[in-house]
Amino acid sequence: MPKIELETKIKPYNRYSREGKSIMLRYFIWTIGCQMNKAESQQIAGYLDSLGHQAATSFSNADLVILNTCVVRQSAENKVIGTLGLLKGLKNKYPHLQIFVTGCLVDSDTQELKRRFPHVDLLFKPGDFQELIAWEQKQGISIEQKLLRGVYNNTHGAPSPCAYIPIIQGCDNFCSYCIVPYRRGREVSRPLGEIVCEVEELIEQGIREVTLLGQNVDSYGHDLPGHPDLADLLNELSNIDGLARIRFLTNHPKDMSLKLIDTIASLDKVCEHLELPVQAGDDGILKAMRRGYTVERYRELVHAIRRKIPQISLSTDIIVGFPGETEEQFEHSLSVLREIRFDVVHVAAYSPRPRTIAWREYQDDIPSDVKKERLHKIEGLQAAVASEINSQLQGRQVEVLVEGKKKGKWFGRTRSNKLVFFEDAGNWLGQSARIQIEKTSPWSLRGEVKK
Ligand code: SAM
Ligand code: SF4
Repeated sequence: MPKIELETKIKPYNRYSREGKSIMLRYFIWTIGCQMNKAESQQIAGYLDSLGHQAATSFSNADLVILNTCVVRQSAENKVIGTLGLLKGLKNKYPHLQIFVTGCLVDSDTQELKRRFPHVDLLFKPGDFQELIAWEQKQGISIEQKLLRGVYNNTHGAPSPCAYIPIIQGCDNFCSYCIVPYRRGREVSRPLGEIVCEVEELIEQGIREVTLLGQNVDSYGHDLPGHPDLADLLNELSNIDGLARIRFLTNHPKDMSLKLIDTIASLDKVCEHLELPVQAGDDGILKAMRRGYTVERYRELVHAIRRKIPQISLSTDIIVGFPGETEEQFEHSLSVLREIRFDVVHVAAYSPRPRTIAWREYQDDIPSDVKKERLHKIEGLQAAVASEINSQLQGRQVEVLVEGKKKGKWFGRTRSNKLVFFEDAGNWLGQSARIQIEKTSPWSLRGEVKK
């Protein structure tokens, strides 16, 4: 997360002292949350860039700040509220500073948000760029409607060869703990042809890898004429020259089809990596979560995937401390992780979210120290599992698509989504590098270029 600097000598640039002609704005986008938020921030940045505005490096030298928010857990919401408080101070000092808020904080009751945060100038729902375009129009600057089609999903800021592309907005599932359907609304798929056009444009901009995004990518297309599905989309995208890799997330275990598994296995460009959230390893908890599958169904699905795609790497999400979760039920989650041996596990402590089914129907009865202890147990177990899995790559050669440089080291990912670092004097940005792995850890790999 970018550091907030309120104490600054740089006075924000005052666009509103202009006379007649439109002057560039310096904008700063602050993003927390999921890949969907990151993709939407990239779209907004691309749109503002296309209008001639310029990215600022922090809040303090921006004259437009856009907060792209997440409220999936209380801790994320607290960060958003804290940041809004800090921005209030900045706006008191520099009244011309404009503050926009989007993301999952913005629900249908914008009046209440306006009352709580009167220093915010514009609120718009996640992915609902009409409001932003209307604001731009009021500034008297020519606009293009392309943002609505998502074609501004560019490489803004960091010239990475990878782009995120939302393919389906919203979610119809209503898992009992989850606020997303209340904030992002029902599922709406983007037409297949539109996504193909966007990817073709991105290839021209130098993109080589795309990640297709949706809360449940397995639902893609059910609301479109002819009902194309994700497998159909992957087949179309695979035909695009210049596109090297395709990824997608998130799959839903109740919806993932055998057709999709066969398609992944048959298409060279589709990477061997899946994000398949299990959420719990106990049938009683899964039922209370309204996930729509049992542990056995999940296990069978993983077996089917591994049979067809033996080299697949799997990531999962898990929630600990769901209401009523007993020690025994928590042990069931641990044993599923031991049995399946995921490459990556994202673990979260249950956080009651207003209006959700679990919030209405269950008491948040697991004390926070117990939640923390369970969370640490999962993290400890997973560190050991991932350490073993990754150590098998020691001495092997892997293909890495290089995304950038951090602290003097090039970094990129393998097809199986392993993060790899290496040092080399050449310019590897956007290139495929063959790396001999020399050191492994649970979280990343290090190696040397094989030329
Ligand atoms: N659509 C995906 C799925 O089906 O799992 C996940 C989307 S959700 C926004 C991202 C992750 O946040 C979930 O996988 C879950 O583990 C976590 N999460 C969502 N609501 C939560 C809550 N109330 N408390 C704790 N974690 C939560
Ligand atoms: Fe939330 Fe469930 Fe939809 Fe995922 S599938 S976004 S967890 S409601």
